[in-house]
Amino acid sequence: MSLPVVLISEEEIQQRVAALAERISDEYGDDDELVLVGVLKGSFIFLADLARKLTIPRTIEFIAVSSYGSGSKSTGAVRLVMDVRGNIEDKHVLIVEDIVDTGHTLKYLIGMLESHRPASVKTCALVRKAERAEVDVSVDYLGFDIGDEWVVGYGLDYAEQNRTLPYIGVVKPTD
Ligand code: 5GP
Repeated sequence: MSLPVVLISEEEIQQRVAALAERISDEYGDDDELVLVGVLKGSFIFLADLARKLTIPRTIEFIAVSSYGSGSKSTGAVRLVMDVRGNIEDKHVLIVEDIVDTGHTLKYLIGMLESHRPASVKTCALVRKAERAEVDVSVDYLGFDIGDEWVVGYGLDYAEQNRTLPYIGVVKPTD
């Protein structure tokens, strides 16, 4: 299989992640108990880079959901596969997502995490496909808006392949 075509380069990603980390560090205080909640599996590289660039205290949790049924088309049904392990009550939660497509997953996650009674819930996503939005969900910290195409790399996969590419790319339909 040939390599995906670069859509967002490694350098562009690193610059954007640094800028997001700076904004987040400015907007939360040193006294805020910030919990980054990474959504498995796709956010693992983004979360690792973002977390290491923050200059404020932070802890890490993971959550796992299954967004799509057995087919490849979103049904809008989201199922919780793994909840956060730590206590997030009265803490400031920042959901760290790889990609927002229809928005169903992020909307579900906000509601789910709010049920743990945190001090606040905000959202951060590396990539958003704005034109695919089906529900109104705000992304407080966004990396990039892209068009309607399947992207891989920097944590994102196609059939579990290409997650460790340092850039975000598009798999050619002929592959
Ligand atoms: P949503 O609920 O917003 O429709 O879907 C979000 C989830 O769909 C993401 O967390 C991701 O798992 C998957 N997804 C949507 N578009 C893409 C894409 O272009 N590439 C990859 N790898 N996953 C995607």
